[in-house]
Amino acid sequence: MTAGPAPPRSPAARHLPGSASRKPCVARRNSSAASCGFRGTRSRPGNVRRRLRIVVHSLQTLVAAACCAASLQTFAQTDFSNVEIVTHHVSGNVHMLVGAGGNMAVSVGEDGVLLVDNQFAPLTDKIVAAIRTLSDAPIRFVINTHVHGDHTGGNANFAALGATLVAHENVRARLAAADSPEGALPVLTFDEEISFHFNGEEVSIIPTVSPAHTDGDTLVYFRESNVIHTGDVFVTLSFPVADTSNGGRLTGHIDVLNQLLELSHTAAGFLSGFGNAPGAYPERPVGALGRPHDRSDTLIVPGHGRLADEVELLLFRNMIVVIRDRVRTWAERGMTLEEIIAARPALGWEARYGADTGPRTTRRFIETLYNEVTAGE
Ligand SMILES: [Zn+2]
Repeated sequence: MTAGPAPPRSPAARHLPGSASRKPCVARRNSSAASCGFRGTRSRPGNVRRRLRIVVHSLQTLVAAACCAASLQTFAQTDFSNVEIVTHHVSGNVHMLVGAGGNMAVSVGEDGVLLVDNQFAPLTDKIVAAIRTLSDAPIRFVINTHVHGDHTGGNANFAALGATLVAHENVRARLAAADSPEGALPVLTFDEEISFHFNGEEVSIIPTVSPAHTDGDTLVYFRESNVIHTGDVFVTLSFPVADTSNGGRLTGHIDVLNQLLELSHTAAGFLSGFGNAPGAYPERPVGALGRPHDRSDTLIVPGHGRLADEVELLLFRNMIVVIRDRVRTWAERGMTLEEIIAARPALGWEARYGADTGPRTTRRFIETLYNEVTAGE
């Protein structure tokens, strides 16, 4: 029973021109891709029809690769000894794991374990221990939402444990360009939506409609559990960041948040204020951080921060739109970047998202917006 509308089965077709159609999985170098537990499902609508490209990369050097050394060296100076991996049951098969670095999601069930992101290499043992409190089954698949080391740092370790690494082809390319060890490279890459049929539900692996945080961003939608891991295109603790050195675009976040709003759904009436009647929704487990989720709405695992829902996606999207429009309008009036920063276009959100230090500063957010709108985006 669900009180909200059914999840869209072909969400991309709802916000892009063209219609979705099923195409067969096309595997290169290895014709047994369909035996890996996934299959290609949908083409990306658009003017140019392309063949869904799923690539299974050579496994031959994987076993020989030193699994941990290079990744460990990267973070050798960081002390992870006090980090605790905390698990929260989100919904259905899906649990959220929080430690140091990006949030993780894990599906556990009869088919085994599927993990989304894996933080830093030195945390692998702790992450595995946390997973083992949920399931003794093999960790079969690890999906990377994007290239950053706080989400992919454990890749080689999990591959050495027998997991198949799965990521957007741009993630593999950028990891390879960064001289990552062979064992850390995804062995199965895609450039269009694919689906796993795992633990009794469809798990959609969905490239974003636009580069946003990076050019390899991927959304992971557990359709029956009704949970989406967004990667870093959505965070609850800071302004969004476009990693321009990895192909990111800040204004692309608006497109991707619209994509997420199409994918997710809120219990009927909630947005209009009529949705909280007692008994209107099926019983739900207590969500992450003790927050009760008694509605049938989609739960959102952000790249960083606490468990969220569609309403928070909406507010985050609207925030970016408002600030972008202010920056664009002020730039068109001839204000310089420094004048715009001094005028504080993000003032109303600074208490919630603002920062003066670290990688996600308010200044960086405004400066990136300025660069993009003055470039005509
Ligand atoms: Zn990131």
